[in-house]
Amino acid sequence: MFSENVEIVLTKINNALAMRKETKKTGETVTLVAVTKNHPADVIRASMALGIVNIGENRVQEAKLKKTVVQNGPRWHLLGHLQTNKVKQAVEIFDIIESVDSEKILAAIDKAAEQQGKVQDVLLQLNIAEEAQKSGFDKESYEAVIPELKNFKNVRIRGIMVIAQKCEDVEETRPVFKKGYEKFCELQQYLGDAHVDILSMGMTHDYWIAVEEGANSVRIGTALFGERDYGR
Ligand SMILES: *Cc1c(COP(=O)(O)O)cnc(C)c1O
Repeated sequence: MFSENVEIVLTKINNALAMRKETKKTGETVTLVAVTKNHPADVIRASMALGIVNIGENRVQEAKLKKTVVQNGPRWHLLGHLQTNKVKQAVEIFDIIESVDSEKILAAIDKAAEQQGKVQDVLLQLNIAEEAQKSGFDKESYEAVIPELKNFKNVRIRGIMVIAQKCEDVEETRPVFKKGYEKFCELQQYLGDAHVDILSMGMTHDYWIAVEEGANSVRIGTALFGERDYGR
């Protein structure tokens, strides 16, 4: 059943790639990040057995526990909002932090990475859908951080992460993803840097739209593993 879900998702991604109307600067392949939050570590092993090596988690503590039991490490992606007091551990655990949503957190990650002798891969999360409850840089704070980015020597800015609003008609997410792609191209040009190569957009309810609009990394939980049980 799980392997069928993976097949369905991969097929939908490929169909979306074929639907693109123009060549995108994000390339022709899409990374599937399996979001295993609120699922047991077994789910990570099952994913890896099917060749999925990118695993997304929302919480530092949960990922830390799972990392101690999962062998032959996958690539760990942090997707959830990060608090300053968890930064040190996050830098220890995650290969990439996708949810950098303030200059303050970026500075804290830079400092922790320096102390750990690591260059930390990060994405800047942009709040394009502008929902009050969602985290991410808003327009103003993003414009303010851009000129500072080159000062952080211990982080590698790999690109942008976007979460679309939930809506009844999935087509309503398209302008958000279009904007995300524009912002990615701007960032790539601004940093003039081959390291800017990841545009993480799209979840279970909208990933094919995101891929059509240029996403090259999608974060998918429910479509792979079913509904999450938050009572666990
Ligand atoms: C939980 C989560 C996902 C996966 O959501 P699904 O709708 O289950 O695919 C993706 N991205 C982020 C940031 C998340 O928090």
